Amino acid sequence: MVRNVGGFTVGRGSLDRLPSFVDARREVVGGEARVVYLIDSYFAGQSSLIERLGARVDDIVRYVDATDEPTTDGIDAVTNEIRGQLRDLPATIVGFGGGTTMDTAKAVANLLTNGGTAADYQGWDLVKVPGVHKIAVPTISGTGSEATRTCVMTNTASGLKLGMNSDFTVFDQMVLDPDLTATVPRNQYFYTGMDAYIHCIEALAGSYRNAVGDAYSRETVNLCRQVFLADDMMSVEAREQLMVASYLGGCAIATSYVGVVHPFSAGLSVVLGLHHCIANCIALNALGEFYPTEHAEFQTMMKKQKVSLPVGICAQLSDEQYQRLVASTVVHAKPLTNALGTDFRSVLTDERVIDIFKRM
Ligand code: ZN
Repeated sequence: MVRNVGGFTVGRGSLDRLPSFVDARREVVGGEARVVYLIDSYFAGQSSLIERLGARVDDIVRYVDATDEPTTDGIDAVTNEIRGQLRDLPATIVGFGGGTTMDTAKAVANLLTNGGTAADYQGWDLVKVPGVHKIAVPTISGTGSEATRTCVMTNTASGLKLGMNSDFTVFDQMVLDPDLTATVPRNQYFYTGMDAYIHCIEALAGSYRNAVGDAYSRETVNLCRQVFLADDMMSVEAREQLMVASYLGGCAIATSYVGVVHPFSAGLSVVLGLHHCIANCIALNALGEFYPTEHAEFQTMMKKQKVSLPVGICAQLSDEQYQRLVASTVVHAKPLTNALGTDFRSVLTDERVIDIFKRM
């Protein structure tokens, strides 16, 4: 069974409907129901925007630093801070920001009702009871966090990058307002948007397929083409298309698996600390032998939008670092099996993996 987001609103200005969604939750919960707003710290100080969220004086407004992607310790710290300020469970948690902020909202919602620490739930279907009601308001498009049943985090102790994969992790509602992505820096907009494209080209090339996932994936790729092959990827129309692509791409990946790009990207994140979306682009750029058509299309898109990628990031690493890159790539057996079969290590030998990294 596949669970989708419970309800959504989409279109310019739809942010103004958020307060009515939140108030409806206050009524359901009753009493002095409070609301938790987790907001990307990028928006701290943008008071006119923050006012539109409609937080009341006794609600909790907590900014989330998205400089680094979530860690289990970081999630526990935010959760404990919020626990300390609440007597009862909140009526809802609003996650306002990019993938990091939305994933934080999902993880905190699960932890408030399930107890324990974030690391206890890294894996598949370990969350026991539904989390607190939660609403996604994405402010950048591509990761699909608003749609997926996971919230990615790196285990502080083990370095393992794995989310809480659970139906309970899926948002209850979302607000897709393309006005919110108007001020995203161009490079970041491109890298993040490409996450949706990459999820779906990987899913469509894999062996674990289903008709619904394929339909989501095809339309996601189609929308990404319209956005990134257009003259201006950030026109109002393109921003709305990409917001929808991000959501559909998230739905697609919830029913299938990624392929070769994401495992290499994870290696770059774990060993070199690169963010997910730029790491994906660097990985795809070096993986033309696995995705020749999409690789060529990706390069056309980069040129068309005048976006560049850092080069030579893996040229001068130590043997120990290359070994860690290999280990943190080939550990992703599910997507690599999806792409290359159970015998994927005969294709991705240590030598070949290192050779691919050296091209990045
Ligand atoms: Zn991704």
